[in-house]
Amino acid sequence: MTEEHLRTIGPQPRRASRPVMVGKVQVGGGAPVAVQSMCTTDTADVDATVAQIHRLEEAGCEIIRVSCLNTHQAQAIPQIKRRISIPLVADIHFDHRLALAAVDGGADCVRLNPGNIRDRRKIEEVVYACKSALIPIRIGVNEGSLPPLSGDEEMPEGATHALRGEWLVRRMVRAGLEEIQILEECGFHDIKISLKAFDVYAMIEANRRMAQLIPYPLHLGVTESGTPKPGSIRSAIGIGTLLMEGIGDTIRCSLSGDPVEEVETCYEILRATNLRQRGPTLVACPSCGRAQIDLIGLATAVEQRLKAMNKPVKIAVMGCVVNGPGEAKDADLGIAGGKGRGVIFRHGKILRTVDEPEFLDVLMEEAEKL
Ligand code: SF4
Repeated sequence: MTEEHLRTIGPQPRRASRPVMVGKVQVGGGAPVAVQSMCTTDTADVDATVAQIHRLEEAGCEIIRVSCLNTHQAQAIPQIKRRISIPLVADIHFDHRLALAAVDGGADCVRLNPGNIRDRRKIEEVVYACKSALIPIRIGVNEGSLPPLSGDEEMPEGATHALRGEWLVRRMVRAGLEEIQILEECGFHDIKISLKAFDVYAMIEANRRMAQLIPYPLHLGVTESGTPKPGSIRSAIGIGTLLMEGIGDTIRCSLSGDPVEEVETCYEILRATNLRQRGPTLVACPSCGRAQIDLIGLATAVEQRLKAMNKPVKIAVMGCVVNGPGEAKDADLGIAGGKGRGVIFRHGKILRTVDEPEFLDVLMEEAEKL
């Protein structure tokens, strides 16, 4: 198999994009894919918002977005900024004066939705404020709030699912390009853009097309993707597909749940795409009739204990010694169960035998030594 063939079937090289600084975090320009989340608190409740940001930061969140939907929320930004250390993006809808207040308050980026600030002079006012504050703008195109249709864009009656998808992709790309044009005409280029949809195909295709057309970094996400399990799957398909194609500079998984889960899911996607490794990776077999231990219970307990570990190691929990050490020979450390006993192995080689009640403690003890 030639290098060229491998390039066509394997993960693609990262798309070159213009670097943009969001506070201290570089997005694009070859920087590691940055992980973002959004607070679920009322931004005006400074204590609750700061507490949530600290939890998110501990989980690995690198850029945080907060809503800025009224003056109380906008006025809270300077107080929040003083108490956090990750960059803050102010999420603006409808009222450009809130964007101006957020910029004054020290926001590291503002997110504008092209669908709901339509007056060009107001957009320009925000752009010039961001330009003098040296902060970027994220253009956040969202399926649910696209700019109004012009006559030629009406979707044909009785359009098929495929046609509706194509129509949505075109509208999203067009909305993004029109907003980019306004910013560029102001001489502004510190731009990030996101094109989010619940429809995974539309989200993937819109980002693919935009990636061909602009030099700016892309923020990826599947919007309103649902509760943690289905939402993580939708996000993984949408975001993961694009990352494997080399597209995407920063990501967020929008889940209806604790935003810490969003961050954990982002890191799972980055691990699975071999783009970033944060903390340990757990390899666990699904268990089958050969297992004579409580494999699922053990894997769940190991997963919990590994959350406190920062080392980028691979730990395997396998149900039987017949296949376990062989199947998990890539792991830095692993355990394979037998009847009442099991073996601890490192890179497939057996280190020692342990009794079942000691599995968890001995495995973690050996993990600490890695
Ligand atoms: S490692 Fe053993 S127990 Fe686990 S799935 Fe494979 S054969 Fe079954």
